[in-house]
Amino acid sequence: MCPMIKAFTVSTPAYPWDLLDEGVDRFLDGAIEHIGANAIFSPICYYWEEAAAFWWGGVMPHNKKIRRYFPEDGRFFVTPDIDCYKDTKIKPDRSKDPLLEGFESLAVLSQACKKRKMNMSVWFPVFKNPYLARKYPECTPIDIFGGRQKHGLCPNHPDVIGYYLGTIRHIIRHYDISSIGLDKFGIEYWAGGCYGEGWYTAINNGQEWAADIDPQFLLLNAPCFCEHCARQAQAWGYDWKNIKDRIQVLADGCLKRDASVTMRLGQKGFFKGEAGLARLLLEEPEVYQWCRFKIQTMVETARRIKELLTAEASHITVGAGLDPSVGSNFQRFRHYGWIYGTSMRDLATVLDGISGSSGMSADEKYYMHMIDKEAVGDRCEFRGGDVHAVSPCGPDDVRSQIKMFDKVGSSAYCIFGYTWAPLENLHAARDMLFEIEQRILQERSVVQKVGGR
Ligand SMILES: [Zn+2]
Repeated sequence: MCPMIKAFTVSTPAYPWDLLDEGVDRFLDGAIEHIGANAIFSPICYYWEEAAAFWWGGVMPHNKKIRRYFPEDGRFFVTPDIDCYKDTKIKPDRSKDPLLEGFESLAVLSQACKKRKMNMSVWFPVFKNPYLARKYPECTPIDIFGGRQKHGLCPNHPDVIGYYLGTIRHIIRHYDISSIGLDKFGIEYWAGGCYGEGWYTAINNGQEWAADIDPQFLLLNAPCFCEHCARQAQAWGYDWKNIKDRIQVLADGCLKRDASVTMRLGQKGFFKGEAGLARLLLEEPEVYQWCRFKIQTMVETARRIKELLTAEASHITVGAGLDPSVGSNFQRFRHYGWIYGTSMRDLATVLDGISGSSGMSADEKYYMHMIDKEAVGDRCEFRGGDVHAVSPCGPDDVRSQIKMFDKVGSSAYCIFGYTWAPLENLHAARDMLFEIEQRILQERSVVQKVGGR
């Protein structure tokens, strides 16, 4: 059996069904043996989009019994402590799947990680929750056309604030962990699909906008214009009526343009890069102010969470995994992060750590890494991005990603994901990570020898 890496962080996700497959001990032993993992993160809930069934075929190649799993959308994998949700009408529900019955994945995992001296982080998709959005439609974001985007929750709604703080409270009361990771951190906007999962028609592997997306419309149809957002914006001094009136004119303008022309241009690859978004931001001050309001909303959200942790569990750090700030996302449903209110630079003033995400190639990861690192600066820890070990990446792709992250001085590697990746990819990662560790240890001993002279 291989030892775990010590010189830097190597993490990977664990889902309840992975832990049930052969038991939590065998799962952790496997993650140590196959990738040298020393840290695990596990979600409190998720939504079907990122389910095992979705990721590149979704079959979990080295699981023994549970080789494919379709999770419930937005229900908790653990029993929520309803006592933590006194301030809000939003009460999360536990999964109804008989397979998960009686299994408290996060409690069991946190104890097992502790025993092995592995760090554990609970992963919380904060605002994308189609289940809760449908249960509490009055808490969902409203777009400029008055439509409720029923796959997310509005961060300015008082019950939503009670819900996310309640969930943080539940986590710190019940699990012995070192950090919380905020995921899907932003004001959910509709980019296609009944669960907001996005369009499947992406051009050039997601590098260009899909033919049926007018990027300006995508920006302008993003929420939220609910009464709670209006109240918060006014409290912060924004001229909300003016902003709303102008967004209405611009969004209606997109609808008045001949959609068949937009479609034809899209098919020709016309909508590349910023595709008119820069003009909107520069020339339309209301658009700029509106985007800044959303960023301020998310910074305030992060501040509330950090404040709660400082007061009740100061040993737990909080980070966020954010979507690309430059370029459309290969995951389709989340394009530029700033459209839904995230700014690496601003959030770095509140959070303990930020990690970025991008496409699957080493080139994309490198480019985004450099941009994101620059935005975060020394305001908080920048944790780098994911090493995609899942299909269609092969061992060579895995090696080139790790080589790149090593070159740019990354101190943390997230091998994504242990569950779905073929063993040959995991072993390619492990062998390289051990080589890097050996080199680092050698460099350290040289420094010590020189220092000791
Ligand atoms: Zn709102």
